[in-house]
Amino acid sequence: MKVVLRYLGARAAFSSQRARSLTGSNHAWRRFDRAGWFAGCKDHSQRDGVSRARHFCASPEKHSDARPLLVWNDEEQMVKDATRKFALESVAPLVKQMDRDAKMDAGLLGQMFANGYMGTEVSAEYGGSEMTFTQTCLIVEELARVDPAVSVIVDIHNTLNNRILSQWGSEQQKQAVLSRMATQSLSSFCLSEAGAGSDAFALRTTATESKDGGSVFVLNGAKMWISNAAEAEFFIVFASVDLQLGYKGITAFLVERAASGLEIGKKEDKLGIRASSCCEVRFDSVRVPVENIIGQTGHGYKIAIESLNEGRIGIGAQMVGLAQGALDAVIPYSMERKQFGKPIASFQGMQFQIAQALTEVEAARLLVYNAARLKDSGRPFQTEAAYAKLFASQIAQKVASQCIDWAGGVGFTREYSMEKFYRDAKIGQIYEGTSNMQLATIAKNMLPKWTTG
Ligand SMILES: Cc1cc2nc3c(=O)[nH]c(=O)nc-3n(C[C@H](O)[C@H](O)[C@H](O)COP(=O)(O)OP(=O)(O)OC[C@H]3O[C@@H](n4cnc5c(N)ncnc54)[C@H](O)[C@@H]3O)c2cc1C
Repeated sequence: MKVVLRYLGARAAFSSQRARSLTGSNHAWRRFDRAGWFAGCKDHSQRDGVSRARHFCASPEKHSDARPLLVWNDEEQMVKDATRKFALESVAPLVKQMDRDAKMDAGLLGQMFANGYMGTEVSAEYGGSEMTFTQTCLIVEELARVDPAVSVIVDIHNTLNNRILSQWGSEQQKQAVLSRMATQSLSSFCLSEAGAGSDAFALRTTATESKDGGSVFVLNGAKMWISNAAEAEFFIVFASVDLQLGYKGITAFLVERAASGLEIGKKEDKLGIRASSCCEVRFDSVRVPVENIIGQTGHGYKIAIESLNEGRIGIGAQMVGLAQGALDAVIPYSMERKQFGKPIASFQGMQFQIAQALTEVEAARLLVYNAARLKDSGRPFQTEAAYAKLFASQIAQKVASQCIDWAGGVGFTREYSMEKFYRDAKIGQIYEGTSNMQLATIAKNMLPKWTTG
């Protein structure tokens, strides 16, 4: 937390105070009270004795902890402001070059480590920033508003890999590896394979117990589409200790880049999020000590499912930030650009479309932070994470496309950022579970609620 706060200027301090006054004052409830609303409700509740009515009409004091989803507390506001400042000052000047070169700027990655963005929820004991998951989502959103590629590097490293080691890692793994991941070393999450995408647990990478000592597993196989692989020093690899066991054989291993037999393959030449590397990673008899198993043998599927449930909220935050970034670019343009003697933003036909997009982005943001706050409060969030990722990625694609329409010809050129946001948006419906997979989760979890008998 401390390090990110370095980015705070006077504006952030002001915002923080504003957040305090909003969250602490309970002013809305008092206004209702003055209008006699509560008094009326109380009477109603006493008259018919319906407990539900009493619940809705409780006294203002009873609601003093209620916080609207998008009203940030002091720390959240500070993290949001600090990240916005960092994104504008340190990321924005590099975006075009990194996209053109399809390469993350090494200096920027170093800055993100130095400023605490790469160990957001990690305990301070291991060099982390000890933030909440909601704060991580705010960081991911604010970075995506400027560059969705930088945002996903931060997202995967935090919401998948740091999370896995923090929750399931041994003390030795935390001391030796998590402490480096929080402060200096990038990581990759290696689940997908050529034949195992949506059906991830059909993976064929094997981890065979070595015959020559017993304390070593030998990994063989190849992973596809591995984000951060070009720069990563640590790889969390899902492999089967016994293919006959199906998903129950899947185990998570911690593998170092330097391991003999680990080879980083071709870097994909992608449509969008080009600064985020994505490579094949091959394992040719890679020897991994038994101490590098994360959690227990056979628990890899659980680790993958649980971390991806959380990661999906991060992707939702990335998509909300992306849509916001596209709007940030096009709205000022639409106020300056004149046709028929007037700014194009003055035409009702334009205003209504922009208003609709603003509404949809806000709805997506609400879904994302509802899921994030459920996670932070220790409540189940799998369905809400799927709602958030599904809707935010759909909205990001739609809004980014519209932003090009609203800019006309210049929106179609590389001079403006709209076309990049549009290219970057497409991935939201593919990685960490395609939209169809989110729909499958929602249907699986929700439809039984209507089962009768
Ligand atoms: C840029 C990028 C970065 C990535 N980063 C990582 C990473 O870091 N680590 C990692 O492990 N993976 C990563 N992935 C892999 C990603 O998670 C997979 O691409 C994704 O899960 C989809 O798998 P697939 O590409 O094999 O598509 P497929 O599974 O072949 O799906 C193709 C289509 O079929 C549909 N489909 C499949 N099964 C069903 C079904 N049962 N019902 C309905 N529709 C279905 C899908 O929805 C999709 O529309 C990345 C991918 C990309 C493109």
